[in-house]
Amino acid sequence: MVGIVVVSHSRELADGAVALAREMGGAEIKIESAGGLEDSGALGTDAERVRAAIERAMSDEGVLVLMDLGSAVMSAEFAVEMLGEGAERVRLSAGPLVEGAVAAAAAAAGGAPLDEVAAQAAGALQMKAGQLLDAAPADGTGGEHGGAVGQAPDAEAELPVVNEIGLHARPAARLGALARGFDADVTVGRAGEASRVRATSLTGVIGLGARRGDTLSVAARGPQAREAVDALRELAATGFGDGPATDTRPVPAASPARSRDPSSVPAPAPPEPGNVLRGIAASAGVAVGPARHLRRSAVLSPPPEHAADTPPHERERLERAIDEARAGIRRDRDSVAARAGRAEADILDVQVALLDDAALLEPAEQAITGGATAERAWYDAAEAVAGIYRGLDEPLLRERATDVLDVGRRVLEALTGAPPEVAPGGGIVIVSELTPGDAAMLDTGQVTGIAAAHGAATAHAAILARGLGIPAVVGLGDRLVAIAEGVQLLLDGDSGTIVVEPSAAAAREAHERAGRLADWRAAAARRAHEVAATRDGTRIEVFANIGGAADDAHDAVANGAEGVGLLRTEFLYLDRDELPDEDEQAETLRRIAATLKGRPLVVRTLDAGADKPLAALPMPAELNPFLGVRGIRLSLVRRDVLATQLRALLRVAADFPVKAMFPMVATLDEILEARAVLDQARIDTGIDAPLETGIMVEVPAAALSSARLAEHVDFFSLGTNDLTQYTMAAERGDERLAPLLSGFQPAVLRLVRETVQGATAHGRWVGVCGEVAGDPAAAILLVGLGVTELSMAPALIPEVKATLRAVDLADAREAARAALASPTAQQARAIAAGLLPGPGAA
Ligand code: PEP
Ligand code: MG
Repeated sequence: MVGIVVVSHSRELADGAVALAREMGGAEIKIESAGGLEDSGALGTDAERVRAAIERAMSDEGVLVLMDLGSAVMSAEFAVEMLGEGAERVRLSAGPLVEGAVAAAAAAAGGAPLDEVAAQAAGALQMKAGQLLDAAPADGTGGEHGGAVGQAPDAEAELPVVNEIGLHARPAARLGALARGFDADVTVGRAGEASRVRATSLTGVIGLGARRGDTLSVAARGPQAREAVDALRELAATGFGDGPATDTRPVPAASPARSRDPSSVPAPAPPEPGNVLRGIAASAGVAVGPARHLRRSAVLSPPPEHAADTPPHERERLERAIDEARAGIRRDRDSVAARAGRAEADILDVQVALLDDAALLEPAEQAITGGATAERAWYDAAEAVAGIYRGLDEPLLRERATDVLDVGRRVLEALTGAPPEVAPGGGIVIVSELTPGDAAMLDTGQVTGIAAAHGAATAHAAILARGLGIPAVVGLGDRLVAIAEGVQLLLDGDSGTIVVEPSAAAAREAHERAGRLADWRAAAARRAHEVAATRDGTRIEVFANIGGAADDAHDAVANGAEGVGLLRTEFLYLDRDELPDEDEQAETLRRIAATLKGRPLVVRTLDAGADKPLAALPMPAELNPFLGVRGIRLSLVRRDVLATQLRALLRVAADFPVKAMFPMVATLDEILEARAVLDQARIDTGIDAPLETGIMVEVPAAALSSARLAEHVDFFSLGTNDLTQYTMAAERGDERLAPLLSGFQPAVLRLVRETVQGATAHGRWVGVCGEVAGDPAAAILLVGLGVTELSMAPALIPEVKATLRAVDLADAREAARAALASPTAQQARAIAAGLLPGPGAA
């Protein structure tokens, strides 16, 4: 018979749960209590006591351990580690303590195997939720009006979940933020199911586990109930801001059971010494060093114990610490948005939403009222909520436990005054997926490489690694995370491999290569501020891409940018329900232009839609948003938005060398219509300042008609990220399509050539602002194809300049000709690599 262990901070509670379970399972069940501390019986948990209880309850069928909150989970995990033999037969349950113990006892008494006993314990709250119909779930997130038993809502609706991965963290955060803006209590559940949660509870909403194809039932009570439900209906139509699924494969059957026992997933076997793991090359360079797991994602360190002050004082301390944490997250978010793009920064919005989550705040508040310190109250609440996430079915949602621990840690640091925890020093950081939160805490002086089990080279996290100048390989698979801490690794960011415990000779060779690369980068940095030109003196402008305010412009100049070739203006519109007005936009653009001190600034007009949805500009759901109303198409539907932006731009153009650039142009008509809006803006503002106007070439149609379009624009900038996506019919963020998404694809290079030929026939210049512009080998080919401006992440500028200085234009042209004729992207790349100076030389 399966044994059961009950772990609680309170001896009485554990004993009581055991007595109740015995009542259900009968006297013969093997159930042991491990509550309180050993001698004193004081509140707390003790790993040794838990270990002894597990040994007493052990049988051939195994043992299920139920725990209450916080350190109980850690003590149980510790106890299993101490156990040695038999540890593989122990299962830690995410189920509720009392109901779980009772359900597990009944199942064990009936002779059920460990899997079944664990499943019964994990699902033990379902019966109670069913009985209470609309009542709150156990996480305390139930509604006051809409969720109360027997009260009819003032407004309700059923909303289909149409986005790819269902109601995961970001859409749930948007839903909560929207609901919070109305004077109404809004609750959400899965249609046809009894349990409901408050819409403002991020944890509650995520915990519903709603997937694509499910239907949500939304109910609201209060003065603005109708408005709230209508707004949520609109949000749902946009896939809760994600856009509808682009994957049209049949929806997998939705699973009614949403919780799982996390310990039931078999861990992958660690690789052996000498094994090579192959992934996707994400950031160039080589590194040798010990494996360093970002342990911060696994546990929170318990806060130091001290006597509590009065509850009002502790409450105030907690509120202040939460405010401080919120400000810190926002700072990180801005810096990540600038370096990696908005989509990656969005994940930090989830952390901001967690700080307002009732599932964390209410238990913390209760604990403080009961006499706990702010630290202890917050720590226990964060551990408990992280436990809820760890127990969810969807791998993506389980990973959100990391965000809970991130915010838990930030608030604790603010409370205790401890310095922020940073990534472990000196070595190759191993992560499941590189999140912006991870990247923000990396100490770039210490971390020599980044290895991620998941992700694609074009994903924003990889862009971030390149921006930081750290060699990186992504998409290495789950075996990566099984590598033990401290094991020596050789990471090759050029070939996309990791060697586990490399031979001494291989390690030495890699060290030497890394040294040469560091010397080369240092030399490049010393000349970063010189103008860029090829060896024979052909001037090439090297500009920066930025996506934020004046700080980013400062960063660009510091790295040697000769101007900004792409200002992604989406940042002006994010995180707000109302569009920015003309004054605000003019003011922000003016600050950026002033920071550039006379250098040119290319301002791309709003490029919303597809992967860049905006709450302030709600759009109807689209079946395939990348092919939908995005970029200039959206601006021509909302001409008021474009007109406001162009008026602001003209005001700045009166004093600074700014240029306007329209995104996602496919036809001449679009250019003519956008120019008509610009002409009207000139009349409205009375400003007739010169304003060069160009377009992004990121749709094959624009590249193929460049000669025709060139009559009506001053310049072109190739957006190779989207151009590659549309040419190869491969979604830019999909890691499975990585080989197709290379900017070296000969078909993409041909479109570059086509664009240049069409442009130069009319005396127009062509730049590139897609990711390839920052790849030294690609830069050679692009210059060889006739591109005269390259715009990239600021950190990449010095190396690209150094590369150009070492190459003759004639050789670059010859390489470009050969690359155009080559059958594969790899061969095209190899041709360019043959001209690379420094350590990248072939
Ligand atoms: C591009 O598509 O290459 C580009 C620079 O624009 P974004 O990455 O902002 O879509
Ligand atoms: Mg683009």
